[in-house]
Amino acid sequence: MASMMNSMEFVSLVVPPKERLVGRMWWFAIQEDKILIQQESAATTVPLLNDFAELALPILRRHYLGRLGRRHCFTVEVPKGSSPPAGMRFECLRQIYGQLNETLYSVAGRALQIVDWDRTHQFCGRCGTKTRTHMTERAKECPQCGLLHFPRLAPAIIVLIQRGREVLLARARRFETPMYSTLAGFVEPGETLEEAVMREVKEESGITVKEIRYFGSQPWPFPHSLMVGFTANYANGEITVSDGENVDVRWFTADSLPELPGKLSIARKLIDWFVERQAESLSTLSGNSSR
Ligand SMILES: [Zn+2]
Repeated sequence: MASMMNSMEFVSLVVPPKERLVGRMWWFAIQEDKILIQQESAATTVPLLNDFAELALPILRRHYLGRLGRRHCFTVEVPKGSSPPAGMRFECLRQIYGQLNETLYSVAGRALQIVDWDRTHQFCGRCGTKTRTHMTERAKECPQCGLLHFPRLAPAIIVLIQRGREVLLARARRFETPMYSTLAGFVEPGETLEEAVMREVKEESGITVKEIRYFGSQPWPFPHSLMVGFTANYANGEITVSDGENVDVRWFTADSLPELPGKLSIARKLIDWFVERQAESLSTLSGNSSR
């Protein structure tokens, strides 16, 4: 098992090799927004099979994804209503975060997005003709007008705002629990990422920010976002909650944080980063003082 995990580097490919594929392959089977997983004693994994036909499940579409180590990876879409084979189940990707190995989890996210894109691009958006899958690129091609439809990615910014020792967090209307998170929103056509940060913060909280810095990014396949994370500092303005997305926006200190999003999200990574930095600056302070 250890040697297999060491060789789990993923290489994204569109066209499978010409020779007949042999050996067991990873099958990322998607049903609506769920993925087929297998429970092997304590471990959660995706099916590793010579051929998906072994499961006797119908499929609607199939894409080659590439190689994970030396194993080939495919994604298939299973029609709604098909029951999973014994010992397997369909699960939302969000629910199995932390259970599935990290590399498998990230390939599963790709699979989910590719299946969703294929399913929603069956007809040309310009002339309505039935599209076909491009032979060498990850694209759906219109045989009538030639328009190519690539997998859809919606970039969204997410930003952690600091004011001295405080962090700005919002409780969104859509949250089911009294959870607070960092501000986030989709990038609009024509905007830079920094402009999107400025606009979203202004719309959602009424304040303006400065010193916007890139933090990191995260694919968010629910269904096709790319979260681009930033940190920023408070510049001026008073908090006003008016755009209807949030029910509350306020400043918190690291030792009085509310309920936070789960470890999966970049929002949580941003908040954890803030908490760590606060702890570091505190320890520096106490190290320098006589207390
Ligand atoms: Zn067309």
